[in-house]
Amino acid sequence: MKRVFSGVKPTGHLTLGNYIGAMRRWVTVDQHQADALFCIVDLHALTVEHDPARVCRLSRQAGTLLLAAGLDPELCTVFVQSHVDEHARLSYLLECVATDGEMRRMIQYREKAALERGRGGSVRLSLLTYPVLMAADILAYGTDEVPVGDDQAQHVELTRDLAVRFNQRYGHAFVVPRATHPEVGARVMNLQDPTSKMGKSDDVGPGIVYLLDEPDVVRKKVMRAVTDSGQDVVYDREARPGVANLLEILAACTGGNPEGLSGVYESYGALKKDTAEAVIEVLRPVQQRHKELCTDPGYVEGVLRDGAERARAMARPTVDAAYRAIGLLPAA
Ligand code: ATP
Ligand code: MG
Repeated sequence: MKRVFSGVKPTGHLTLGNYIGAMRRWVTVDQHQADALFCIVDLHALTVEHDPARVCRLSRQAGTLLLAAGLDPELCTVFVQSHVDEHARLSYLLECVATDGEMRRMIQYREKAALERGRGGSVRLSLLTYPVLMAADILAYGTDEVPVGDDQAQHVELTRDLAVRFNQRYGHAFVVPRATHPEVGARVMNLQDPTSKMGKSDDVGPGIVYLLDEPDVVRKKVMRAVTDSGQDVVYDREARPGVANLLEILAACTGGNPEGLSGVYESYGALKKDTAEAVIEVLRPVQQRHKELCTDPGYVEGVLRDGAERARAMARPTVDAAYRAIGLLPAA
């Protein structure tokens, strides 16, 4: 059975982008068809300025929301990255095969570093090395497939390069994974700025739909989405990014395709109204289940504890073998 690994960072409340771009396929496809692990990658949340209590709270919330979205601990492994030491252990070895030039070319590093500098802050070294830790997350489990939004394609490509390089230099240690992306909704854009990705740690709050937004809030955000200067509803990502984004969200929520849906609408107003309702319907069961799970925090904790135990057992042999391959003296 193929191995699948993916994760979310507890850097903010989970968004519709996280759901459509990644989580939904984890629930509907991956956990049924693969030996799948889903990780709350909390170490990655420390790469930018953070409030410790908030990261902790968001990690618990992410765990609850992953289960609310439909991940079933009987079918897959859900766990927290920092509970499994193997990620950090392997990351160091991969730092010894990665180069600093390679790291500095990462688009997300350049964007997030520019943002930090723009805020007058300094850039943490971990922001630069974060893709190496992500490679360790993936390679520690012998992962075949990494289901992610398309913003993560470059990081998975780097992971492949590091795996191949390590294998060539030190003997076969890692499976070389590949990224998979959803056909529709691989990059949901911010409703207020449809040229930027909807990201949970962004400042443009009104343009982000969070999974726990009440129906009225969703309606307001979608109805106020920035559209383009034209009148007719056409699907054109370049010329009409605002309308294209709404068509993609609607298509992702209803199972249609954005091109086909564009012919159905004569006004932006009608498109927005249907998109808002479709999003509300997709979020409704997730929110309901989230409410139920919040009454039983012990259950979520137990799932994460068991998940970490299972994950540790899967990662340890691979990481130990990599330690030996690279020339480190075994402890015993
Ligand atoms: P941050 O702003 O902190 O990077 P994020 O919203 O990008 O947060 P991540 O935790 O980095 O969320 O990513 C979790 C998963 O969600 C990844 O697979 C990522 O590709 C996917 N994803 C994130 N944002 C979007 C989006 N706007 N559209 C589609 N997929 C997305
Ligand atoms: Mg991200």
